[in-house]
Amino acid sequence: MDLFEYQGKQYFARFGIPISPGGVADTVDEAVAQADAAGYPVVVKAQVKVGGRGKAGGVKLAADADEVRTHAGNILGLDIKGHVVKRLWIEHASDIAREYYASFTLDRSAKCHLGMLSAEGGVEIEEVAATNPDAIATLRIDPVDGLGLDGARAWVARAGLDEEAREQAAELLVKLYTCYTEGDCDLAEINPLILTPDGRVHALDAKVTLDANATFRHPEWEEFEGSDVEDEREARAKARGLNYIGLDGTVGIIANGAGLAMSTLDVVNQVGGTAANFLDIGGGANADVMAAALEVINSDPKVQAIFVNIFGGITRVDEVAKGVLEALSRVDIGSPIVLRLDGTNAEAGRAILAEHLSDRLVAEPTMLDAARRVVALAGGQS
Ligand code: GDP
Ligand code: MN
Repeated sequence: MDLFEYQGKQYFARFGIPISPGGVADTVDEAVAQADAAGYPVVVKAQVKVGGRGKAGGVKLAADADEVRTHAGNILGLDIKGHVVKRLWIEHASDIAREYYASFTLDRSAKCHLGMLSAEGGVEIEEVAATNPDAIATLRIDPVDGLGLDGARAWVARAGLDEEAREQAAELLVKLYTCYTEGDCDLAEINPLILTPDGRVHALDAKVTLDANATFRHPEWEEFEGSDVEDEREARAKARGLNYIGLDGTVGIIANGAGLAMSTLDVVNQVGGTAANFLDIGGGANADVMAAALEVINSDPKVQAIFVNIFGGITRVDEVAKGVLEALSRVDIGSPIVLRLDGTNAEAGRAILAEHLSDRLVAEPTMLDAARRVVALAGGQS
């Protein structure tokens, strides 16, 4: 789960990482109120989950309330790489002497944590990596050993951070490492990490990705959830515990197993259709799951026809067939459904459905036949 900058900074603050005072604003008036509270000059910053906001005009300095009005008005509603700005973060502006880069992430192949530190921050790290890779000091950290102050001191020296920044930077990096490990982040990145002319080191930006697998031990993450769900269908699916991803097409898809679901998208595409979603109902899906899946797909106004593609393994097709019938008795489905049921107990499953088949509930013997049928029902090739 990616966090917005302001959430990332709030997360940093819990671990004692210094940030600038500020607050969020959803309107121009709120922006001015937050700027008054933070103290001028301020920075008005677009809150979107994409990098390069500065270059895109989403980060502006403001010396007084009038400038805050102008910038907040311009940035709210701005489209940055397909992300529309709905919220701003306003913070007290810092004077910058030097911009550094710092991050922790997982190095899967080396089976350890990877720290990256550079005295050349501010610009995108990919750019530094491409043009001047020696400017990035990497550090592989064994999770059992962790990162202590001595290790961090050696690291900041190796990265060539300015003398006066080193001790504070080392302390900050230990805190960032704690945030990354104890805070269960997949990524904790600060770019730029700055040194001010009066000798303070602090985080000017925050890019944090939380490890969703650790959600169970972080009840406090609840506040982060939902803040980025832009797709109502995905929110609905999530509430029902479904593995769903919204897409733009007209064929609703339900399959068991992620591999089969992806293949189903491919086959629908192959015969000229477009998928409205990815939805994997998993193994052993019962009537409740099938009903929930049909409900979510049914709520998508773009869907013209639904493709239920089940290959029974541990999941028994007769159970799935019962599930489909029960789901249909509970949910009023607006689109025709094409079923392809194969695998364990397929014969029994088809027998259960036989008397219920109609032009609204169609069975096809193969995946390809079913794809052709459902695409035709959805209005033909797009
Ligand atoms: P990004 O472009 O999405 O990475 O957004 P950042 O938060 O990193 O801001 C982009 C750039 O704006 C930074 O690299 C800084 O150069 C500049 N910037 C951000 N905050 C301040 C600030 O408080 N004072 C000054 N002088 N510049 C800032
Ligand atoms: Mn940045």
